[in-house]
Amino acid sequence: MPDESGMTLHLDPRAPWVVSTHELGRQPGMMRQMHLTRPAPAEIGVDMIGVPKDADVELDLRLEAVMEGVLVTGTARFPLRGECARCLEPVTSVSEVSFQELYFYSAEDAAEDDLLLDGDLLDLEPVFRDAVVLTLPLSPLCSEDCAGLCAECGVRLADAEPDHGHEVIDARWAKLQGLVSEHNNDQES
Ligand SMILES: [Zn+2]
Ligand SMILES: [Zn+2]
Repeated sequence: MPDESGMTLHLDPRAPWVVSTHELGRQPGMMRQMHLTRPAPAEIGVDMIGVPKDADVELDLRLEAVMEGVLVTGTARFPLRGECARCLEPVTSVSEVSFQELYFYSAEDAAEDDLLLDGDLLDLEPVFRDAVVLTLPLSPLCSEDCAGLCAECGVRLADAEPDHGHEVIDARWAKLQGLVSEHNNDQES
């Protein structure tokens, strides 16, 4: 579990995002490559889009022992699910991020925000989480040219007739016809 300083302490070796570096033996130059599939942690995302919890995340990792710790270089492929910022239709896609992080053996060598190994174990989750959040689109779109919703009636314009529109009643004319109050009462429907 991460503590308040963001450092990693007392990892559970069975947790899905915890990886063992035991084979590297803390010998600088030792390297190990691995391909893992892990369930996405909960709550990775922003309001409009994110990674669905427990979705498969494909990881390609290279673990390299250096003097101060273990350098992890990797890429992650994962699904995204959200809604279009213009028309609110569901949006799904697959995304990929790269990351690199040095996990320190000792807190003495590390700065406050650096990650630490817990014995032979390291936790990939915070690195994955940070990498994903940086790449999320601020305004996900169902398609580049999504026309959004009709400002008058809220219909999704991509589903509407090409000439979709509304007759605009001139306010003065409406008043003459005694329609103004009636129109206001109609707003709920
Ligand atoms: Zn859209
Ligand atoms: Zn409309």
